[in-house]
Amino acid sequence: MPSLSPDLEFARFCPILGVAQKVSEAPQPVIDLGVGVPGFLPAPHIVEAAVRAAHEDTGGYGASRGDPALLKAYLGYLRRLGHTHFDERNLVAGLGAKHLLFSVLRAIIRPGDKLLVSTPCWPTYFDIAELVGADVVDVRCTAHSGYKMSPQALEQALDEQVRVVLLNSPGNPTGAVYSAEELLGLAQVLRKHDVWIICDDVYQRFVYDMDSCPDLLTVAPDLAGRIIKIDSVSKLYGMPGWRVGLLAADRRIADAVTTLNSNSISNLPAPAAAAATAALEGDQAFSIAARQRLAGQREALLEVLRGAPLLRFCEPAGAFYLFLDIGQALGRSFRGQMIGDDESFCDVLLKEFGVALIPGSFFGTAGHARLSYSGDAGKVLAGAERIKTFLGEFA
Ligand code: PLP
Repeated sequence: MPSLSPDLEFARFCPILGVAQKVSEAPQPVIDLGVGVPGFLPAPHIVEAAVRAAHEDTGGYGASRGDPALLKAYLGYLRRLGHTHFDERNLVAGLGAKHLLFSVLRAIIRPGDKLLVSTPCWPTYFDIAELVGADVVDVRCTAHSGYKMSPQALEQALDEQVRVVLLNSPGNPTGAVYSAEELLGLAQVLRKHDVWIICDDVYQRFVYDMDSCPDLLTVAPDLAGRIIKIDSVSKLYGMPGWRVGLLAADRRIADAVTTLNSNSISNLPAPAAAAATAALEGDQAFSIAARQRLAGQREALLEVLRGAPLLRFCEPAGAFYLFLDIGQALGRSFRGQMIGDDESFCDVLLKEFGVALIPGSFFGTAGHARLSYSGDAGKVLAGAERIKTFLGEFA
């Protein structure tokens, strides 16, 4: 039997999608607070744009950089955020932010290069790094700093091999949002080091006390040549399955990712591109209303969990996740069974109470679990009550 490439022999299936698979195979109905989907659907004008594009299909391939109308719509989105230094040649569309992150790292990483992330972070960063051959430098952040990396910690972790620094604000899984001052502090360090800076901004508009959170490009425009901004319609417009992500960066990066597109996906499906264009250009009211609903849901959830035993958490400022510190529950017994780590905590919660969470160790921070509160309000609160009951039975 011929073997696989060693790169794939050890690669793991995306662990969050692995939990989704467990949920779909569970014998009983599950309240799924694991998967990070936005919990609302795109508005009718978006779906209609996709249908129109399918009817107008001429049977050809599309542009590898991205449909010009989509890139124009993204440029408009960036301009509304105040980013005026890009033109269409700086932009590329991909099959979601995940695909673009893969392509960017594939384009940048050379043997021996390192990717710096702060943990807890989205597990895909580790897995893509592994697939493109980058070592990960992991700056461990705690609740004490609101799960945010300080300029000092960044400075200490940067060495000659670090070629890319990845920032994600609001962050998955903690909902931590960097203030403009905090980003300025990081920028002062980044200015001194010749590294690319990937800003994973897929949750930039998921903040609850402003329309969008500050980003590095705004506070440090002098770093624009090195910043790779990654956006997505998945969360903002309720379109995770449509697979449209967007990137703005230096032309060399944009051209390299376009070349990768041309040799892998060729182009985005036209209906998905047309839908994303309509989402970016059309009426934003449904997206704003969905985010307002989530803000209310967040408050109600925090209210329930504040009274839960053995639980600690930082109140998130953005995204739609709550990162639960379950450390006090570990090492105790539940119905005679010792719960030793976050994975067994999540497994027992799923099996006994029908609630799915994602173990914190998947995000590089053991002793925690991620809760996504974007789903149906009643289910989120019912799930939170079950977590409380579960913790109440620990002896
Ligand atoms: N970046 C972060 C931090 C995410 O949490 C996710 C999805 O959960 C993505 C990127 C992927 O987004 P997309 O659906 O556009 O691939």
